[in-house]
Amino acid sequence: MNKQDIEQIKQLLSTPKKIVIVTHKNPDGDAVGSSLSLYHYLSKYQHKTTVILPNDCPSFLKWIPGAETVLVYDYQTELSNRLISEAEIIFTLDFNAFHRTGNMEIPLSESDALKIMIDHHQAPDGYATFMFSDVSMSSTCEMIYHFIDMLKDTNNIDATMATCLYVGIMTDTGSFKFDCTTSTTHHIIAKLIDKGANNSQIHNNVYDTNSYERLQLLGCALKNLKILPEYRTAYTSLSQEELNQYNYKKGDTEGVVNYGLSLDNIVLAAIFIEDKQENIVKISLRSKGHFSVNEMSRAHFNGGGHTNAAGGKSYLSLNETIENFISILASYKNALNDE
Ligand code: 5GP
Ligand code: MN
Repeated sequence: MNKQDIEQIKQLLSTPKKIVIVTHKNPDGDAVGSSLSLYHYLSKYQHKTTVILPNDCPSFLKWIPGAETVLVYDYQTELSNRLISEAEIIFTLDFNAFHRTGNMEIPLSESDALKIMIDHHQAPDGYATFMFSDVSMSSTCEMIYHFIDMLKDTNNIDATMATCLYVGIMTDTGSFKFDCTTSTTHHIIAKLIDKGANNSQIHNNVYDTNSYERLQLLGCALKNLKILPEYRTAYTSLSQEELNQYNYKKGDTEGVVNYGLSLDNIVLAAIFIEDKQENIVKISLRSKGHFSVNEMSRAHFNGGGHTNAAGGKSYLSLNETIENFISILASYKNALNDE
């Protein structure tokens, strides 16, 4: 996004517009945080702004200021379709290809609103008029801060916006510990705290509201953990039956994949989660160093993401998916052992 783009966006936003903000399916902290921070920002300028999530977000994100205003496409389809078709500007945040929005793919591709993409995933599609795409960024929330900075308007970031931005930076950096965390990330976090983001409260709201059943489900996933030392890989799985046993709710498996990576000498971790309703196995992959799970997921699991964190899906059974994963590892043996 160059100076000229910023001037044009400033011009566009200088009069009230009908704006829709969308993000990816199964929205995470960065998706919801970035969408709501931008919602609060644009609302200050009298734009008529609506955030539409493709499907519902987990309950540990529902406290984020403004969450009560969002539409969920799968529940409020008609109203969402109308707002998308009437929108003058659509911001697409934390994703870069329409198919990542599930059922919103068609209305988004049919809309002739001007599109502004702000995103940090690899290989962006070309649908946006203005594109702020940077894979080196920790999070879309960090990019929203930079975007407002480019508009020379960080003075207008208040405690509410700072709270939303803090959530996404915190969740996408694994609480500031992943490789994507830079000194700039920390500088921005410091500014957000100065503006009123309550760091310990936010951490508590997101991470310390576990149910007993969620911890039991985590225990089940840890019991299922297997190690393949020759591939420096750890993987686990949760069957639909196990999910049902512990009364699985959206978001309950968030972060579970990371435990595999905490093992000494392991550079690739995977979790396979059976979803009988959608008839797929959801896959999450995490890695350390240069080993790209984004490439692995694009090549074998209908997905993508970042170098060290990616997702995908399989249409095989849970067991077949795991067998397939293990057979695929052979071709990555050298790469995994070179790390
Ligand atoms: P998770 O494993 O937490 O679902 O996702 C890890 C990262 O990969 C996130 O940044 C997420 O947006 C991305 N991701 C997850 N699933 C997919 C997918 O199916 N396609 C693509 N392109 N990215 C995905
Ligand atoms: Mn993100």
